[in-house]
Amino acid sequence: MGPSRAKFPGAQRSLIPKGMALSAANSRLKVIVIGAGPVGLCTAAALRQEGHSVTVLERRRDTQPHGHALVIQPAAVRALQHLKGADKAFSSVSVDAGALRWWSYRDTKPFAAPLAAETLSRTERRFQTDRPSVQRVLNELAVASGAEILFGRAVQGIQDLGVKPSLWTTQGEKFTADLIVAADGIKSATRKILFPARDVDPIPLRESIFLTSAPISQLAQDARIRPWLESGTKHGILGPDRFILSRPMYGGLLGVQFIDVDHADPGPVDVNWNTPADIGLLRTRFSDFNMTTRAFLEHIQHAEKWQMATGAELGTWRSASGRIVLLGDAAHAMLPHAAQGLSQGIEDALSLARMLRWASKSGDNGVDIPVVTKAWVNLRKPRADIFMKQSTSNANIWSLPDGPEQEARDEMIRRMITRPPPDLNGVEMDMTADQKSPQFLKWVRDYDVVLEGERAMEKVSSG
Ligand SMILES: Cc1cc2nc3c(=O)[nH]c(=O)nc-3n(C[C@H](O)[C@H](O)[C@H](O)COP(=O)(O)OP(=O)(O)OC[C@H]3O[C@@H](n4cnc5c(N)ncnc54)[C@H](O)[C@@H]3O)c2cc1C
Repeated sequence: MGPSRAKFPGAQRSLIPKGMALSAANSRLKVIVIGAGPVGLCTAAALRQEGHSVTVLERRRDTQPHGHALVIQPAAVRALQHLKGADKAFSSVSVDAGALRWWSYRDTKPFAAPLAAETLSRTERRFQTDRPSVQRVLNELAVASGAEILFGRAVQGIQDLGVKPSLWTTQGEKFTADLIVAADGIKSATRKILFPARDVDPIPLRESIFLTSAPISQLAQDARIRPWLESGTKHGILGPDRFILSRPMYGGLLGVQFIDVDHADPGPVDVNWNTPADIGLLRTRFSDFNMTTRAFLEHIQHAEKWQMATGAELGTWRSASGRIVLLGDAAHAMLPHAAQGLSQGIEDALSLARMLRWASKSGDNGVDIPVVTKAWVNLRKPRADIFMKQSTSNANIWSLPDGPEQEARDEMIRRMITRPPPDLNGVEMDMTADQKSPQFLKWVRDYDVVLEGERAMEKVSSG
C-alpha cells in the first residue's frame, strides 16, 4: 500500500502561500466540476484563478488517500507554471529520482550489471511525486484559489439543454451552470449519460499492478537490495509477461510496482479495482526474478492490487450542446506505462482554463462557450490519443517473452539509453514523426499546451 496522507512529515502544514483567494466578484462563468480527483481539483484551481466561479462536487467524504509513485511529465510541469502556487508546492513533495537503469529479470550472478544505465544530462523538469501528495497539493490550491468543494455529493443525472446545463445529486440538490466539466474518472457516469447510444464502459484487461513500498532505512540493512538504493537512481526490471519499476518516494520510502501483464481474467467492471493483495501469491509469481526482487519481496508487509483497464475510444469529449466536457481519466483513461495519465489531465485543465478567456456567457462579447470547447477538444484529443496507444505498446514491449524479440528490445534499450540524449534545441516538434525520433521526443517533452491553446483560439476568433 502507498503512503497515507497522515504519514507525510509536515502534512498539517499548508504548502500553498496565503492570500491567493480571488474575489467572487471577478466571476465570469459559473462552472461545475464533477470529481475532486487530481484532474478535477487542478481544473477547479485553474478556472478559479482565471476569475470564474467554481463548485466541485465529489461523491467521497474526503480526498482519496491511496496511491503510489507518480511522475508529472515536462510538458505538464510547463503547463503548471500558469497555476499560481503549483511549482513551489509540487517541488516540496517531489524527490530526485535521477537516472534510469534497466535490468534483465535473470539472476546469472549477484549484482549483475544492468542492461543499460542512463547518463543524466537531460535538463527537463519532472515532478517525481506520489498520488497522495498530488491530491493534497491540488486540493489546497483549489481551496486557496477560492473554489468551493462540496464532498459527499454524488452526481446522479445531467441535463444538456439550452445554454444552462444542469445536474442533480443523489442527495437531492440541483445545480445549473454555464459549463459542466466532468472529471469523474475512468468509470465516469457522465460519459455514459452523454453518449447513451454507445458502449463507453471502461475495458478491463488481464493486467494487474501490485503497488508496494518499504522504508529505505529498513531496506538499507539488506545488502541484496543495494542496487535499487543507490542514490539518484530508479530501476526497471524486465521479464516475460511481467516487469517491475522501483524508485524512491517522498517520505523516505522505496516504492516498487510489480506489473503482471497476464495476471488473470478481469472481473466485471463494477467491482472494486484496488484491493489488498495476497503477498504469498506475489512472491510466487515473481520467484524467477533476480535476487534484488526476491529480497525486496521478503521485506514487504502489504501490497495493493490494482486491476487495470483502459477507457473506451470516444469520438469526442463534449456533449451535443458543447457545454459539458469530459477531461482527465473520464476522457482518456490509459495504462500507466507512458506515465502520462495525470500529466495529460493537467494539460487538459490548464489549456481549457486559458482558452475560456475567449468565451463569454452569451457569445456577444467574445466567442460562445461551445466554440471554445470545440477548439479545445480538437487541440487536446489527438495528443491524448497518442499517449493512450503508447502506454499499451510500452506494456507489450517491456513484457516480451524470452527470445529473439526480447533480445532485439534489450539491444534497442542499450543503444537508446547509453548514448547521450539528443540535443532537442533547434529540433522542430512533430507528433507524426517516428516515435523514437528527436522530432517526436520534442513534441512529447517541449509541447506548450497553454501557448497552443492561445494559438487555436486566435485562429478561431479571427474567423
Ligand atoms: C499504478 C498507476 C501509476 C500511474 N502513474 C502515473 C504517472 O507516473 N504519471 C501520470 O501522469 N499518470 C499516472 N497514472 C495515471 C493517473 O493516476 C490518473 O490518470 C489520474 O489519477 C486520473 O485522475 P482523475 O482526476 O482524472 O480521475 P480520478 O482520480 O479517478 O478521480 C475521479 C474523481 O471523481 C469522483 N467521482 C466519480 N463519480 C462521481 C460522481 N458521480 N459524482 C461525484 N464525484 C464522482 C471520484 O470519487 C474521484 O474522486 C498512474 C495510474 C496508476 C493506476
